Amino acid sequence: MQIEMGFKGMKTETIAAISTAMNSSGIGIIRISGDEAFEIADKMYYSKSGKKLSDMPTHTIHYGFIKDGQEMIDEVLVMLMRAPRSFTAEDTVEINCHGGVYAMKRILELAVKSGARYAEPGEFTKRAFLNGRIDLSQAEAVIDVIQAKNEYALKSSVSQLRGSVLKVINNLRSRILYETAFIESALDDPEHISLEGYPEELEKRLQDMKKELAGLIKSSENGKRIKEGIKTVIAGKPNAGKSSLLNLLLREERAIVTDIAGTTRDTLEEDITVNGIGLTVIDTAGIRSTQDVVEKIGVEKAKNYVQEADLILYVVDSATGFDENDEQIMQMIEDKKAIVLLNKTDLCPVTTEEMVRQRMNKPVIPISAKTTNGLDLLEKMIRDMFYEGKISFNDEIYITNMRQKAALESAFESLCRVEESIRANMPEDFFSIDLMSAYEELGNITGESVGEDLVNEIFGRFCMGK
Ligand code: GDP
Repeated sequence: MQIEMGFKGMKTETIAAISTAMNSSGIGIIRISGDEAFEIADKMYYSKSGKKLSDMPTHTIHYGFIKDGQEMIDEVLVMLMRAPRSFTAEDTVEINCHGGVYAMKRILELAVKSGARYAEPGEFTKRAFLNGRIDLSQAEAVIDVIQAKNEYALKSSVSQLRGSVLKVINNLRSRILYETAFIESALDDPEHISLEGYPEELEKRLQDMKKELAGLIKSSENGKRIKEGIKTVIAGKPNAGKSSLLNLLLREERAIVTDIAGTTRDTLEEDITVNGIGLTVIDTAGIRSTQDVVEKIGVEKAKNYVQEADLILYVVDSATGFDENDEQIMQMIEDKKAIVLLNKTDLCPVTTEEMVRQRMNKPVIPISAKTTNGLDLLEKMIRDMFYEGKISFNDEIYITNMRQKAALESAFESLCRVEESIRANMPEDFFSIDLMSAYEELGNITGESVGEDLVNEIFGRFCMGK
């Protein structure tokens, strides 16, 4: 089903919501969007000069008060943006008030009393999409920017927000459309357009398209890690320095995690960033508060954590020899991606780098959680292990969204089917069918061929006021 783009000629309901967090803060913003945004704002706004907001030019800011009848509610700055030069592409008024929860609520209620209705979660962004200002990949990037927990996640979402994904997908789609159009015209007008030699040419071009799709699909491996963080377990025997390491990493760059409505946060996980790379450290009470992973949480449970992890940071105490705990951990992590952190190198060595290397075929970094020596090498090693090549956000695209990945995979399979038809010498109209499927599947990413249900589901995941 094709979604109707825009509301041309139709009057839109005016919606309102508090767009900033619902707790006490310096500034709160109430956003009003729709055809009557200015009129509604005028009903609530009062300024000494008596000027009406609806008479003011677009993209201007005005100082005044919000009043409910005679009652003065708050001192505000009001920002005016006329359609289509606003986030929603509709007339929009943003009221900057003092960030008290009660003040914000009163102003929102007043906006509703004056003719707006409460916005649903994500409705502003949904309108931006329906009004054709952004495509679905950009809309999804908006959520990702809001939820970004590390530098790379933010950079990748902002690049998507600026249309990087839209651009490659549109390019692929237009190439696919060209082929179907060519086949259709040749079939319609065989006298003038010949299909001789065409299947071979198409096959070559399919190869290129498949290569691009495969690259995008592959990027999602990095993309997922960029977005969600590398699932990491810190293992090591009692007193090896696990808590010191975690505290150090937490103190270095504590991840900004707030209670965003709609995001579930596993309390067992601690998000940290090591020079912009997000690690989700599995931080069980056992691992943190008591000293012994294996003893406290049980070998079985420890094994599960290790099994689920993308990365094990195995802390070895260089000031003591290997013991039974070390033996168990070494066994557990044999087949896992792991970095051995040979800790306490500021002390007299009992276990040396060579001794570790003899026991395990894993990279070793001598560190000291006390002096912080060696921690810079950790970042470099994680990057080498998890991100192929250098991560750059200038021209590379990372698919961080699993819905988009699934659409890319379907499109890839459809193109494979075209190849099979070519090889089986099938008639050309068979190519068209699968080419069109690929075209539609890619359209799911930009939102051009998605159904209303999916659109509602996607925007329903947004937070209130966005
Ligand atoms: P955990 O049981 O593995 O979590 O180990 P802790 O982080 O609690 O550290 C155990 C003890 O070793 C504490 O007294 C730390 O201060 C000390 N420690 C940790 N790392 C180092 C280090 O690199 N050098 C020195 N000298 N002491 C350390």
